[in-house]
Order: sequence, then structure tokens, then C-alpha cells
Amino acid sequence: MRPGGEMSFDGVKYLWMNGEVKPWAEGTLHLATHALHYGSGVFEGIRCYETEEGPAIFRLAPHLARFYTSAELYHMRLPYAPAELEAAMGELITRNGFTDCYIRPIAYFGYGTLGVNPRQCPVDVAILTWKWGAYLGEEGLTQGVRVKFVSWTKLHQSMVPTMSKACGHYLNSILAVREATDEGYDEGILINRDGHLAEGSGENLFIVKGGVIRTNDESSSILLGITRDAVIRIAKDLGYRVEIGWLRREDLVMADEAFFTGTAAEVTPIREVEGLPVGKGARGPVTARIQEVFFEAVRGRAPRYRDWLSPVAQPVAS
Ligand code: PMP
Repeated sequence: MRPGGEMSFDGVKYLWMNGEVKPWAEGTLHLATHALHYGSGVFEGIRCYETEEGPAIFRLAPHLARFYTSAELYHMRLPYAPAELEAAMGELITRNGFTDCYIRPIAYFGYGTLGVNPRQCPVDVAILTWKWGAYLGEEGLTQGVRVKFVSWTKLHQSMVPTMSKACGHYLNSILAVREATDEGYDEGILINRDGHLAEGSGENLFIVKGGVIRTNDESSSILLGITRDAVIRIAKDLGYRVEIGWLRREDLVMADEAFFTGTAAEVTPIREVEGLPVGKGARGPVTARIQEVFFEAVRGRAPRYRDWLSPVAQPVAS
């Protein structure tokens, strides 16, 4: 498996930058951009899926809401309204000719000062879209992935607002995924300062034990995932008990099943932790059932979750 999944920027024609659609090749910025030096940006990861009624963006409203919250937590005021960003995403998807794709809005402190305090810097906003396959591999979705607890501690909510999806926070994630993949694992799990499981480098964590589904929350230094939220709802609708609380290493090792959730990773089973099988060491039945409903929902085939999809307006055929 190629870590990060199949991704290509080939054939992406357009991007959006500060209010304008531009050719992909023109998406450049100055080396004195504040965010390049200090990680002072925030971003989102959103997926658009092909449905019978055309491409539709999954859970756009909560992704946009988190984007603005992430910015606010760093005192960054976005100079565009959510509706403008939504329109820009639709335009990019249509003009790039995409159906299934990944959408990456980013807002960052731009060119102005390289003092640490970004007060003098403009807030630049851009949106990229590209094709991105299963983040932990197609095989990961069915067979499950192998993980380790990494030696790096998860950034704690007393150090940074971990609920902000901020660029600089991902240095912690980069160390985690590098350590795990260098040692032959598919993904790393970060533990926080309190000794509680936090999350993967780019995914939230769920376990299943005795038919009960458990996951943690923001008090465990996690990003509050939107896929996590969707999966909690799906699990409850399927009649499972869902408990939210701290998780420890042994909860994962002794679980019947475990899985990751994330926009990129979708719902990916965890089959092994540091050489120990989770449950039977394969995708479990509860995970499979949740995956099934999740993929029906994103493809617009689950009427009950239709309001999770924002259709992308298609050009009228002439
Ligand atoms: N945690 C981290 C650190 C992430 O990067 C992501 C991916 N955005 C998630 C959790 C999952 O969040 P979501 O389901 O909103 O993509």
C-alpha cells in the first residue's frame, strides 16, 4: 500500500485563490508567506461523491462551520462568507470535470511580516480539489490496517486548541505517521499527555467491545471529526449503544473490533495493534455494517441521510 492512498494532481485544471478561479499552475505564493514559516493556517478536508443525481459534497455545512471555528481559534478572520466558499467549490468541481474528489479549503496568514505575531498579515484563502482514493488503501477498507502506538505524545489541548484543524498541528501528525510507516505499520496512534488514546495522524478512533461502540471526545486532545459524528449517528440509528469517554491502550488491544474514521480514511478497520490481532484480526461485523451504511449515505442511497449531501450544480447541457 502506498501511504496516503492514490492521489494525483495530474489533470487538475483549476483552483480558487482569494476570490478568483485560476489555472492550477498559477496557485503560487511568496516565500515570505507567514504560514510557510510558522504553520499559521487552517484548513479543511472534504469529499465530494458521485451520486445518481450528480456529484454531491458530503457534510459541507459542518465542514464549513469547523473551518470558521478553526480560524477563529487563531484570531483569523476569513474575508469570505460560507456561501462564497460553497459556490467556489461547486464551480471548481464542475470546471475540473470531477465527480468523486477531495476538496481542500485553506486559509492562512500571507505576505506582510515575518514577525511571529501575524497581526500585519493578510488572510489569504484558497481552495484546491483533486482525485484522492482510499487514504489507507482499498485493501485497508476491507482487510483492515495495522497500527502502532507512536512514541510522540499527542499535542495537548492545553498547548494548542486541538479542535482547530490548524496547519502547524500536523507536525505532530507527520512525526506519528512517519514513525509508524517507517516501522512497517500503516498508521500511528497518538497517546496524549494524560495517557489516553487520542487519534491517528489523520483519523478518529472507535472500538467495539461486547456490542458497544466507544470513542473519545475533545477532552482526549482530538480533532472532532465530522466522519466521527456521522458514524456515531449511524451507529445509534442501527441500534448500537455508543459510549463517549476516555480510551486506554488496553481498550484497543482487547477490543473485539476497532476502526478509524476520517474524511480521507472514511471508515477503515484496524486489524492489528503492534503485532496483536484486534478481535479476529480482520474486519469485524459491526465495522462492516457501519461501513455499508456510511457508503450508502455518501453515495446518496440512504434516504434518511440525504440532508448530509449538498448537490453540486451541473452545467445545463446545451
Ligand atoms: N483527526 C485528525 C488529526 C484529522 O486530521 C482528521 C481528518 N480531518 C480527523 C481526525 C477526522 O476528521 P474528519 O472526519 O472531519 O475528516
